[in-house]
Amino acid sequence: MEKLNTLDVVKKHGFKFSKSLGQNFLTDSSVLEDIVNSAEISKEDFVIEIGPGVGTLTKKLIEKAKYVCAIEIDSTLLPIIQEEIGEVSNFRIINSDALKLDFNEIIGNEKSVKLVANLPYYVTTPIISKLLNGEYNFKSLTVMIQKEVADRINAAPNCKEYGALSILVQYYCNTSIVRVVKPSCFVPQPKVDSTVIKLDKLENPRVKVHDTKLFFRVVRDAFNMRRKTLWNAMKQLGISSDNMISVFERAEVDPKRRGETLSIEEFARLADEIHKEL
Ligand code: SAM
Repeated sequence: MEKLNTLDVVKKHGFKFSKSLGQNFLTDSSVLEDIVNSAEISKEDFVIEIGPGVGTLTKKLIEKAKYVCAIEIDSTLLPIIQEEIGEVSNFRIINSDALKLDFNEIIGNEKSVKLVANLPYYVTTPIISKLLNGEYNFKSLTVMIQKEVADRINAAPNCKEYGALSILVQYYCNTSIVRVVKPSCFVPQPKVDSTVIKLDKLENPRVKVHDTKLFFRVVRDAFNMRRKTLWNAMKQLGISSDNMISVFERAEVDPKRRGETLSIEEFARLADEIHKEL
């Protein structure tokens, strides 16, 4: 494995890592190549990077993209990145918390928008949920995240990893695992394995439902009570037993099943039949 000069850059600037900001910087050039190649960046693309760190991935993105906008919460990193990257016309950095940002203010009228990031692990799920729920016109999200979270995102029914996060992401995207990354590819080393995963946004959500909020509520309720049958998990919706029997019949879902066995299409049918009773 070829080492990047990440640690030299960190030392040169006297930068101190913050554990609470999820600062594990990439040191392995093959991982960098795999992220950039799988993101399929061209000169048409407007790229948003969350958490550029000292700019290791950012530099590669700037070479390939029409424009790169990086969002970094740690203000002490801004002068470091600026110095490392120098004066280039297709880059800007915003000092902000990605969780608080309205991405549409950055995206503007851009048509081909791709997100690429080695995400801070303490906020992986809220960031991905925000990016997908926010009706932003991303074409794809290529992100490095904890392996355990990537496995949940990519899971199929009847797997122990399958849950509300699998449905949320697969509702909006095709998912593909690019590669697993060992802790030794970072400085400082995280405690867990990581995965690069690519999420390609679908033109339309995978299933058509009458009420998206209700659909996700049904999914959440089904997985919050993983051990319970759907019949018991759906009780809290307050629908009478007679009507609930008919809901399950019309949806062609056996109420004795558990949520973890349902496909996204079955969840959609169930939510739409529940919708008619509310
Ligand atoms: N991209 C760099 C790399 O691959 O070496 C650094 C990745 S490091 C895992 C995560 C980065 O996200 C850090 O630079 C950290 O300061 C930044 N960060 C943490 N929380 C953030 C937030 N809420 N919004 C924006 N950036 C954040």
